[in-house]
Amino acid sequence: MAKMTHLMVDLEAMGTNPNAPIVAIGAVFFDPATGDLGPDFYRVVTLKSEFQMGAKPNADTIYWWLTQSDAARRAITEGERLHIVDALSQLTEFVTDYSTESGLNRLQLWGNGASFDPVILRSAYARCNFPEFWKYWNDQDVRTIVALGRVIGFDPKRDHPFAGERHHALADAIHQAQYVSAIWQRLLAPHQDQLSASALHAVYAAGYNHGHLNTADGIAYQNDVESEFEHRALEVIAETGTLRETK
Ligand SMILES: [Mg+2]
Repeated sequence: MAKMTHLMVDLEAMGTNPNAPIVAIGAVFFDPATGDLGPDFYRVVTLKSEFQMGAKPNADTIYWWLTQSDAARRAITEGERLHIVDALSQLTEFVTDYSTESGLNRLQLWGNGASFDPVILRSAYARCNFPEFWKYWNDQDVRTIVALGRVIGFDPKRDHPFAGERHHALADAIHQAQYVSAIWQRLLAPHQDQLSASALHAVYAAGYNHGHLNTADGIAYQNDVESEFEHRALEVIAETGTLRETK
């Protein structure tokens, strides 16, 4: 099975600013097209190490944490806690162990908010002087998907109730991965024909690029080949449609 290239990340932090101290990191690979979950990651980070590295807390967020459940507060104050540098290095190791090099270039990093998890995580990697493992153009936003879901009548709060402990970074990440997948599938359901065409196209293009198909003529894979293939793929789909109708 192909490796998953979507990673949902949820951070618990002591601020909402880009350089907020991270106190827990949850992450899970997932496939939004199927809703399947892959390997997951969870580490708690010491606030002290984040202060040492120059992260800046926010008073409102500290007060907010004081009003959260005992379980949520215990999750970040008890048990094994790591220095932020170790937590980030282990997160990088977790992701690179699972991904191929080209997978890393395509790795979609999801967070609940265009201004939150990916931004705060990137800032943490920068203050720890450690290269981040994903490309900035692969940041993905849960909130945009939720807004699209509401437009088509799917509200995660109503249609996908939370199971587990709120504000636990891994439970949050898993929950978000599940409802993003649920909305993704509803959004794409009316477009199955186009999806089959683009999947066939991707297979053909990969074969062509790797020299498995028709390379005797020495023509590199180009736009005309691409459009010719799209044409053929649409023919195949049309034939399949006809077969379905005649059944
Ligand atoms: Mg959370």
